[in-house]
Amino acid sequence: MSSIFTKIIQGEIPSYKIAETNDFYAFLDINPLAKGHTLCVPKQEIDYIFDLDDSTLMELHLFSKKVAKALEACIPCKRIGVLVIGTEVPHTHVHLIPFQQEVQMAITSLKLKVDPEEMKTIAQKVSKKYQEQNP
Ligand code: AMP
Repeated sequence: MSSIFTKIIQGEIPSYKIAETNDFYAFLDINPLAKGHTLCVPKQEIDYIFDLDDSTLMELHLFSKKVAKALEACIPCKRIGVLVIGTEVPHTHVHLIPFQQEVQMAITSLKLKVDPEEMKTIAQKVSKKYQEQNP
């Protein structure tokens, strides 16, 4: 059975999309630790990040860097934190978290409740910035 992230990538489940390439997809985390919390995912459905081939692993990080640059241009934050856990969804993903306080980097911290309209606005703003920075 396809992972929930594959279903998102294929458009079967909605997402607040930030960016897409031939091989990668970025979208807002539905239960964010901070506003703008984004997941960067390879389209190839592989559970564990260190099972990716070297090229895909490298390209995932370069894609994540581009998304992080768009996020930091749009979301007031100390910096963009990077987290990989992957125990909830068995499809490799890099968390990008625009944190104000280090405690927001703890996956066990309280998740924010962000209004869907605000999620949409954040996604549109960051997506526009990503496109400007990566024409
Ligand atoms: P983990 O596997 O522990 O790295 O966490 C999986 C992350 O995926 C969690 O932060 C969830 O909030 C997030 N998540 C799960 N389902 C969705 C979804 N449909 N859209 C966006 N994010 C999701």
